[in-house]
Order: sequence, then C-alpha cells, then structure tokens
Amino acid sequence: MRVDRTFSGELMRSGLMTANDPKLTDRVSWPRSKYSAGFDLTQNPHVRGPPPISMTQSSMKTIYALLLTLWLLPAAANPTQAVTAKNWIHGSQNCEESHDPAIDVLAADADTYILRQNKCIHVEAPFIYVFFGQHTVFIQDTGATESATQFPIYATVLRLINERVAANNGDRPKILVTHSHGHSDHTAGDDQFRDQANVVLVENQLDAVIGYFDFPNWPIGETVIDLGGRELTLFPIPGHQEASVAVYDTQTQWMLTGDTFYPGRLYVREWDEYKTSIQKLVDFTRKKPVAALMGTHIEMSNTPGEVFDFGLEYQPNEAALPLTIDDLNALNAALIEIGDDPEERIMDKFMIAPVGAVQNFIGRVLGWIFG
Ligand SMILES: [Zn+2]
Ligand SMILES: [Zn+2]
Repeated sequence: MRVDRTFSGELMRSGLMTANDPKLTDRVSWPRSKYSAGFDLTQNPHVRGPPPISMTQSSMKTIYALLLTLWLLPAAANPTQAVTAKNWIHGSQNCEESHDPAIDVLAADADTYILRQNKCIHVEAPFIYVFFGQHTVFIQDTGATESATQFPIYATVLRLINERVAANNGDRPKILVTHSHGHSDHTAGDDQFRDQANVVLVENQLDAVIGYFDFPNWPIGETVIDLGGRELTLFPIPGHQEASVAVYDTQTQWMLTGDTFYPGRLYVREWDEYKTSIQKLVDFTRKKPVAALMGTHIEMSNTPGEVFDFGLEYQPNEAALPLTIDDLNALNAALIEIGDDPEERIMDKFMIAPVGAVQNFIGRVLGWIFG
C-alpha cells in the first residue's frame, strides 16, 4: 500500500512533537465484554427463594428459560458503546504489504456511520461522520487524501447510500458535505464530491461556512438543520482553526468536536478563542444530554497520559475515540487554571498543545501556498 505524502496542514505541526519514544507495549485493548453485565442469578432478589406454591413445574421452567435467555443476550449496545468497543484499523507495521482497506467503516447504529482513513494511506488517519436522516445524509469531513484511487471516500459513501436505498426501497437522499474545520487532512477528498449528483458541498472557508449555515454574528449563535427526523445543532468553536464548528446530533446525543477536542494533541492556535469555545461546549452539555464527545483523530494510547509519536503508520493499543463530559470538564478546568499564558499540558486522555506565534505564522503562509 502506498503512502500519501502530500502536504497536510497537520504535518506542519511536527515541530511541536516530543522526540521520546513512548515505548509502546504489546498489550491489547479488548472491547469490554458484551456479557459482563450479565445477571448473577444467585444474587438477584427476583429469582431467589422458593417459587410460589401455585406455580407449576412447567411454568417455573419457562421462567428460568426466559431468565437464561435474557442472561445470554448481549447487553443492548448503544452507538457510543459500539464505537468504544471498535478496534479500528490502526495502520500496519508493514504498510507496503498490508491489504487492509483504505477506509474502515463502522455502523454505530442503522443510521450512523463512522469512517476512518487507514494510517497506511495517510498518517493523520482522520475520522469521518455519516448521519442519515429521512431525506438528507450529513457528511462531516472528506479525509486527508485527494486521490479516489488511493482513498475512495465518495464511492464508500455512495455504497452506504445504495445499500440503504435498496434495503428500504426508499428515495435517494441529498448528500450534504460539511467540515469540522478547514485543515487539509479533513478536506482533501472534497473534489471527489464536487459536481456529483445530489451533493451540496459547503466549502471549508470561513465565509462559506458563515454563509451556508447563517452565522451573521460568528462566532456567536447556533443553527439547527433537519436531515428528516434527525436534527443537528451547529455552533462555532474557533481556536484550533478559524472555521471550527461543533455539531450536536439529537439521535446519538453525540457532540462532534473535530480537532478541537479528541483523544490526542489539542493544537490551540488562538488561545483565548479556544478557551471561550471549550466553555461554550461545557455550557451546552449542561442544557442538553450529551452521551459522548466525538473528535477526528486518535493520538493517545490506552495508557493514561501516553501520547503517540507524531507521524506513525502503526498505532497499536489506541485509546477509545469517545470522550466524556468529565473529560471536557477536565480540559476546561485546566484551561482556566493555566490562565492567560498558553501552556502545554499532558493529561490522561489528551494533551493541550498551544501553537506558538512563529509556528502560527509559518502555518498560515504554508496554508496560503498549499491551500
Ligand atoms: Zn486541524
Ligand atoms: Zn486534523
């Protein structure tokens, strides 16, 4: 498998990386057992003690059979549990000989997919979200690689749509392509969607985002869009990048946070704006139920406080993708404690990584040159 070495906005940040090797262990993070929540029949007050006199032996057998069935059934998985349990394709020790697909697809529920780009194709290995409503499918981000041959993101989305239309005998949905923010590891696949049938592509530049989603007072305000029986609330969260947008989904109760909040290096370009955006996310979680905060990379191992080196093609023992409200509150508390002067800090689930003024300037120039 050939690796895409094209320029990425994220690659510029490599100057920030620590050189120490995290000395990865071989421990494997097994998903939590689906059966671990099974009932202990001896301790269950509902089944202890002698049966009532009136019960026949056969009715008791039926009850025990029912209880046994309940015990054997896997705990009902919700979408967040499905994501936590997922062992993503995390690159390969030998990408040249790897036959893993370019895109790993998880159906978190019947209407909700998360796609991850293989690290062998691009080391950023971003996540892409696909939410189906009755008349519109919402796509957040298009990945880190332009080439449809190396990275067939449009074809993958189209396959999901075709399977769904065939299964439901339904109409073809409109495809709404948006971005968590404007960095090229989340927008490189845009051209694959451009000019395709049924596609509305919201360009990633700030003025396009403001215009399409109607944010006249950016970064203040929020917008609700309806996918057909599924509402999304969008609001600005600049700080990592100027056009960063959070998306709250009523169906999964997920808050999509892009590169603003994920299990990895949280690059903060505009410190004050970032702090305001994190406080805004915290405030939102206090007024609406949020099951998980879902970002667009994994750069932490499942050992608390252990950050993977930048640019690895192989990342075993990754942390789970979903973050919790407690994690968000921990970030907010740390930012408040740090105060006005940006400071790097490694925490259990993520790392605060302020970007210096010089790096910011170089990043802008390179971004301007390479788009
Ligand atoms: Zn970014
Ligand atoms: Zn990114």
